[in-house]
Amino acid sequence: MPTDLESRELVAQACRVLGSMNLTKAATGHISCLADDGKRIFIRGRGRAEVGVRFTTVEQVITVDLDGNKIDGPDGIAVPIEVYIHTRLYRARSDVRSVVHVHPSTVVLFTICGKDIAPLYGAYDPSSLDLILDGIPTYDRSVLIDDEQLGDDLAAALGSKRVCLMRGHGITSVGASVEDAAIRAIQLNEAAEMNYQAHLLGQPRTIPEEDLKLFLEKKRQKDASGGSPRQAAAWRYYVELSKG
Ligand SMILES: [Zn+2]
Repeated sequence: MPTDLESRELVAQACRVLGSMNLTKAATGHISCLADDGKRIFIRGRGRAEVGVRFTTVEQVITVDLDGNKIDGPDGIAVPIEVYIHTRLYRARSDVRSVVHVHPSTVVLFTICGKDIAPLYGAYDPSSLDLILDGIPTYDRSVLIDDEQLGDDLAAALGSKRVCLMRGHGITSVGASVEDAAIRAIQLNEAAEMNYQAHLLGQPRTIPEEDLKLFLEKKRQKDASGGSPRQAAAWRYYVELSKG
């Protein structure tokens, strides 16, 4: 079991990774994870002492209860206005241990135009294809999630899925770990960028039906065998990249 400090360091590291990959604008966005006691979360705070997501330090990751009240952290760092994205999702989903909320501009363009992110590639990035085939819901409002009701509405839009688009706003991804939730955000962003470029280049073709079928069959076998060393390797790579 990770200590509180290790969990906060991991949240800060994930902020730096997503920030360095331009998945969010300047200081907007936050990542959280659930403490082992299931009663507190560690979340990137906002306020006068903060720096951008890309430069998040462990001191900026504060402790908050599941009602969104600050329990611990420096004076200059406050609870994010949209803390309810996190607290209401943890209450709604017992499988979720980490929540990522960022504003990636290319994904937001798809919500603005009401275009789907289509399955355009397979072996290029199979787990990204998996994410798309699982279905990506959209929360169709463009408001800040600044109260419990709106948090519950977002949780309902996400349902049992792993990522949710937020119209004219950003994305929220969830996972069984910080790495899990962060990598899903990265994959969603890459899929959107690829779709966008494909539309610029010409008429994108979704991959053949028979390939999709085969992919799903093989995935079922792999899921049964469990574990993902590829995800761990990808995370190590992104962490190194963020140090550059
Ligand atoms: Zn937001």
